[in-house]
Amino acid sequence: MRPSILFPLFAEIRTLSGVGPKLEKLIQKVAGPRLVDLVFDLPVGVVDRSYQPKLAAAEPGRIATMAVTVLEHKPGRVKSQPYKVIVSDDTSMMELVFFRAHADYLTRQLPVGEKRVLSGRIERFKDRLQMTHPDYIVAPEDIVSLPLHEPIYPLTEGLTARPMAKAVRGALEKVPMMPEWQDPAFVKQRKWDTFGAALEIAHGPAHDSDLVPMTPARQRLAYDELLANQLALLLIRANLRGGNGRVISGTGKLKAKTIAALPFTLTDQQLAALAEIEQDMGSEKRMLRLLQGDVGSGKTIVALLAMLKAVEDGLQAALMAPTELLVRQHLASLEPYAAAAGVRLACLTGREKGAGRAETLARLAAGEIDILVGTHALFSEDVTFKNLGMAVVDEQHRFGVHQRMQLQSKGKPADVLVMTATPIPRTLALTAYGDMDVSRITGRPPGRKPVETRVMGADRMGDLIAHLRVALDRGARAYWVCPLVEESEKIDLAAAEERAVMLRQALGLDVGLVHGKLKAAERDAAMGAFKAGQTQLLVATTVIEVGVDVPEATIMVVEHAERFGLAQLHQLRGRVGRGKDKSSCILVWHQPIGQTARARLKTMRETDDGFVIAEEDLRLRGPGEVLGRRQSGLLEFRMADPAIHAEFLDIAHDDARLILARDPGLKSSRGEALRTLLYLFGRDDAVRYMRAG
Ligand code: ADP
Ligand code: MG
Repeated sequence: MRPSILFPLFAEIRTLSGVGPKLEKLIQKVAGPRLVDLVFDLPVGVVDRSYQPKLAAAEPGRIATMAVTVLEHKPGRVKSQPYKVIVSDDTSMMELVFFRAHADYLTRQLPVGEKRVLSGRIERFKDRLQMTHPDYIVAPEDIVSLPLHEPIYPLTEGLTARPMAKAVRGALEKVPMMPEWQDPAFVKQRKWDTFGAALEIAHGPAHDSDLVPMTPARQRLAYDELLANQLALLLIRANLRGGNGRVISGTGKLKAKTIAALPFTLTDQQLAALAEIEQDMGSEKRMLRLLQGDVGSGKTIVALLAMLKAVEDGLQAALMAPTELLVRQHLASLEPYAAAAGVRLACLTGREKGAGRAETLARLAAGEIDILVGTHALFSEDVTFKNLGMAVVDEQHRFGVHQRMQLQSKGKPADVLVMTATPIPRTLALTAYGDMDVSRITGRPPGRKPVETRVMGADRMGDLIAHLRVALDRGARAYWVCPLVEESEKIDLAAAEERAVMLRQALGLDVGLVHGKLKAAERDAAMGAFKAGQTQLLVATTVIEVGVDVPEATIMVVEHAERFGLAQLHQLRGRVGRGKDKSSCILVWHQPIGQTARARLKTMRETDDGFVIAEEDLRLRGPGEVLGRRQSGLLEFRMADPAIHAEFLDIAHDDARLILARDPGLKSSRGEALRTLLYLFGRDDAVRYMRAG
């Protein structure tokens, strides 16, 4: 149960005074549903109102705060005219301008003859000073309600800065005095404040320099979050590992039969990964291993051989994939091998219903199915294995699927192998998978030829087209990618269409065009024609889908390569080099090109190792973009940025280990505080595991 000290923070936003249903909806959109979400929503900007000049010296363009006396009201003669109020101090005069003004309101706010303190942007109109709609108008005795530094939070349409800042302030006032969960010596050495003080400081920036991730306050908060993350992962892992594992030694018979049936030989990398997996399976400890490798790098066959080892020992195995489609693909590719090895294979997804499903479940419980392939349906409560020895989770590009895994088996807990197709940098792997053991299949997938990568400026387009003509004359097939930038979809589309026309003329060839606005059928037709070789050149605006597989395509031209991220460029380049012919990738950049873009293109030229590229991507862009915040579903860090706070991630990892080694049940007084930390960052799941374990 969540500790009572945190109750106020987990209240809903509407409990704040001044926040009604409408405002709540907007705030929820940018921050989240609870006060704690507001507390963790750090400012992205600051308005500095500390400039307090006399009117005569005030610099137009700046935000200023000034004490003035109200001289005169000049309502507009017609509604469309602005309402003006003249004010002065002992040096000069200024005109306040209000559009669509309410006269009563302004007379109450700015009574003639009274002193007022104003804050807003000063402008000069002709030779007069003006301020249009001051941000603040307060009486001298209310001066405290005028913040000299105002934090700016992420906003959305309909949500303005002031109510948002007020809501955050309200939430901050509900932050209780927290126990210290960090090691006091460490906090002291880093010269960090307490959690509460760090929050106050992080929410009270005075200058832009207070907004960067490496201020001491933000460091402290990031470290809190990273420690919660690492502790939670270790607790979950300890729970998965808990209980006595099982030694799976296998007889090697099914493995030998299957390998004999393979139409290829396993690469050294595949064999190395398999050896690591087999070693885990053969040990007492429960296996928790991550197998990383690009799509098509040959992970599935490795996983199959591991599953067969369990089957050899009379155990069952499960393979879970995130989508129905992937399940069908796995099934199709496993079937011939299962047949060759004499292994009973079955499938369970949401689509299996009624009697068929009931029969599969019965056979599974009776041990008449050796390998079950399926979607999340495998985790349904009514699915029970007779004796599950090995579970493989194919996450593809969806992270954290394995974290919700709870397979029912009558036997001992199963060994777990997670497969992922996105090369994840080491630091991110740590946040996502704790200290799962990692095997990697690196380099190019089996049968793929290296792709020659060239980088050129758009000014050499003429040369490029001349080369392309020669290659196409020889029968080559090529992709030509024009990027799509969301904000100007129409313009980009037009540019791509224009490019297709230009290439058609320059090359005297039929040129295909695919883009996101095409109907599915038109798109399929264009892709089909390219696949069949009826068109040799395909211009595409959208990123060519990951699934596209045309082994005959050997040339990939990417225009405006400076606009793509590294991961995308790597994906695009992966579309060629799939067949027997030599392939090339030409990255064309246009002016203006920045430092980061140059660095990206250089990386592309220097390496085709997805892992190196992923590390570089993280370094150049930050983790949210590497994984795509949405897509990752897992990088839910609010305070920490693993790219920037990487140093802390390692420390947090070691710290978490040490804590659990000394106090596995988090029973000491620091342990109690750390439980609060886990709940604070929403890691209730980890605490529950601890209870159970
Ligand atoms: P992944 O699961 O990593 O996406 P797969 O296991 O599906 O990759 O392999 C992709 C393709 O490569 C499959 O058709 C598979 O049969 C083939 N393959 C796997 N290993 C090898 C190898 N060592 N040599 C040649 N082809 C291989
Ligand atoms: Mg696969």
